Amino acid sequence: MNRKSLIRDLQNHLAMQWDIIVIGGGATGLGIALDAVTRGYKTLLLEQSDFAKGTSSRSTKLVHGGVRYLAQGDILLVTEALHERGRMLKNAPHLTSNQEFVIPVYTWWDVFFYTVGLKFYDLLAGRLSMGKSYFISRSRTLERLPLLKAEGLKGGVVYHDGQFDDSRMAIALAMAAVEKGGTLLNYFKVNSLLKDEKNRIIGVRAKDNDSDNEYEIHAKLVINATGVFADEIHSMDEPASKPTIRPSQGVHIVLDNSFLESDSAIMIPKTDDGRVLFAIPWYGKVVVGTTDTPLDEISLEPRALDEEVSFILRTAEKYLTRPPSREDVQCIFAGLRPLAANPDNPSATKEVSRRHKITISRSGLLSIVGGKWTSYRRMAEETINKGIRAGMLDHRKCVTKKFSFYSDGTTLKSDRLKIYGDKAAEIERITEEQPELGEKLDAGLPYTKAEIVWICRKEMPLTLEDMLARRTRALFLDVRTSVAISPLVARIMAAELGYDEVWQQQQLTAYSQLIANYM
Ligand SMILES: Cc1cc2nc3c(=O)[nH]c(=O)nc-3n(C[C@H](O)[C@H](O)[C@H](O)COP(=O)(O)OP(=O)(O)OC[C@H]3O[C@@H](n4cnc5c(N)ncnc54)[C@H](O)[C@@H]3O)c2cc1C
Repeated sequence: MNRKSLIRDLQNHLAMQWDIIVIGGGATGLGIALDAVTRGYKTLLLEQSDFAKGTSSRSTKLVHGGVRYLAQGDILLVTEALHERGRMLKNAPHLTSNQEFVIPVYTWWDVFFYTVGLKFYDLLAGRLSMGKSYFISRSRTLERLPLLKAEGLKGGVVYHDGQFDDSRMAIALAMAAVEKGGTLLNYFKVNSLLKDEKNRIIGVRAKDNDSDNEYEIHAKLVINATGVFADEIHSMDEPASKPTIRPSQGVHIVLDNSFLESDSAIMIPKTDDGRVLFAIPWYGKVVVGTTDTPLDEISLEPRALDEEVSFILRTAEKYLTRPPSREDVQCIFAGLRPLAANPDNPSATKEVSRRHKITISRSGLLSIVGGKWTSYRRMAEETINKGIRAGMLDHRKCVTKKFSFYSDGTTLKSDRLKIYGDKAAEIERITEEQPELGEKLDAGLPYTKAEIVWICRKEMPLTLEDMLARRTRALFLDVRTSVAISPLVARIMAAELGYDEVWQQQQLTAYSQLIANYM
């Protein structure tokens, strides 16, 4: 991806009408862009910040059917998600993995309930099952989870789900869509919608946040895929529209693996507030979460509340022999999920089904809200199909079910570089040509200087934050270490992208302000 050439592409097409403009570069928008370009539609995606800057880099990192929704009886939702889970694991094996979970059980009723429930979960996955679930004894549970408290434990129920790297999956989607001929731009904000004399939407007015240049861009179909920001776009369409969304915040903390010391994850199906809590190994750390706190404000940088962090630590302490304290927390990240607001009483909320909702306004704005990362492909397919059914696009068949992000033929010296997919060999080549770039940025993080160089050349990072938060996951893995490497990373980026000392200082200042949200 090269931003300059993509902007040139946009400028060259200003006089023409695009088939589709997608607003929003999270999982939903990127999935739609890939679906659209692979069907052959001329597609433009505009993201106001970086790809996956919003909720899509702040998930629990699970590719799952949602065991919780099974308990709620939403069998169709779970079955659909399990099928998408299977597809995502097949299509992006370099960014996903099969993760074993253990539910510790403390009553014989729970042993029965979760064993039967998870057998049903396996059954729903059908051919795409990731491994059978089964009950294990108390001693085998403690072998798998040596740091789990043993008191009152009857045993464990083992099951399998997928795990992934959310923002790297987002970048993989963006890269694939660009390779297939799409124009995807980060730091490009849609400020208003263009309408004709019949009040039909005919395009958008958008600003390049990097150059401040403004553009009027025409399209047959405009898709609002802005997650919790969807109401902002709705009110560009109909200024008097009532709010439909109220955000609810989910927080995770990241701990050193010494708090889990296991390759198995823990799933606590019912915490004190009735939520599910996970402790999942991820890149050598443990991600623990999440919470569910309704908020009044929507922000691109939501910040965890003190009480949310205390709740996660308190719950972890109940189950782990080595209780983590605040000083042990290496990162805190918060993400927003859209709850359905009652338009007549915006402060009242009810949990929307985790199923996505696709709507078309009177002026032709196609909006998609809700859903989950796991189902991004299916959501995209349904969104484009809806546009076709509404007569806004000519009929073309969806081809993403077997769209592979990774070719099996790729041979690599280092398995770790697999996260870069087919392109990983290019990073190895950089290291062969300049062995000094093979050095790690820090002993506590997996990344090398060569990765920073390659990302600058191919993955369109504009800021130091893009590099440390979403291209690498340094910020999410360990805030303090990410700060320690930030001057070196800024220097490498400046050299690659042609920036000066002033740019480096600006980036370092902005980054040091940002990290307050993650500590
Ligand atoms: C705490 C939490 C944990 C989760 N865990 C999981 C999980 O483990 N597995 C799973 O499958 N799902 C999970 N989910 C759900 C999943 O993360 C979301 O469904 C998904 O990321 C939503 O993606 P999105 O693209 O709709 O929204 P977002 O990722 O928020 O993207 C919307 C984008 O629109 C952009 N935008 C807004 N306004 C404009 C504008 N005017 N112009 C241009 N761009 C604009 C924003 O900058 C943003 O990047 C989780 C959700 C939460 C909150």
